Amino acid sequence: MTDTHCHLNDDKFSMDVEEVIKRAIDGGVKRMVVVGYDKISSEKALELSSKYDEIYASVGLHPYEAETYRSEDLKHIESLCLENKVVAIGEIGLDYYRGPENRDKQKALFIDQIEIAKMMRKPVILHVRDAFKDTFDIVKNYDLKFVFHSFSFGPKEMKYILTYENLFVSFSGMITFLKYVRDAAKISPINRTLVETDSPYLTPHPLRGRRNEPSFVKYILKTLSEVWGLDFESCERITDENASRFMDFD
Ligand SMILES: [Zn+2]
Repeated sequence: MTDTHCHLNDDKFSMDVEEVIKRAIDGGVKRMVVVGYDKISSEKALELSSKYDEIYASVGLHPYEAETYRSEDLKHIESLCLENKVVAIGEIGLDYYRGPENRDKQKALFIDQIEIAKMMRKPVILHVRDAFKDTFDIVKNYDLKFVFHSFSFGPKEMKYILTYENLFVSFSGMITFLKYVRDAAKISPINRTLVETDSPYLTPHPLRGRRNEPSFVKYILKTLSEVWGLDFESCERITDENASRFMDFD
């Protein structure tokens, strides 16, 4: 199993991150991608990746940083990309949930980081909230791989994904408790679908209410295998292969 998006760099893991990682590895999670969202969390992701073979890092500035980042922060992200275990840029993107005031700033930060990804030849992990169309219109111009992390849309948006071969989708715990996400998963491209926990957030059914952790990725895989009508092992193999095609783990 590959947890392609988790935040072991979050404060909620500060007391017991080693045990959390051990539980994941003992439970069959072969790879975890710890995803940054600002300067400090990106550095922390890299630090964790240097301690464990199974952990990889992604670095980037979340759209929430659009108001406060400085140009040297982008330079910093660029320099982190040179490290061996940085496998992606992200999570970056557009988030319109909090209102329209800073959309232009978000777009500028987003595009600057896509340009870094292009230069560094890294795939991009997208955070997209209430901004599917604008995001799609930007990413379709690039010959780069992108993943819509924690896919939170329905079949209509999934049809756009199908039209563009560079786009991947990743399912989180939402697939276990939202029917429209399962409906989208039914038509998700089998060779471009990943799974993730987004821990400590979005805990899957039947553990909702608890802190999420990478060992729970099996619940997401189980739901996906049911939606696809495949056995668990096939689904695990397929999503592992997809993760390796999306990111370079070697
Ligand atoms: Zn995340």
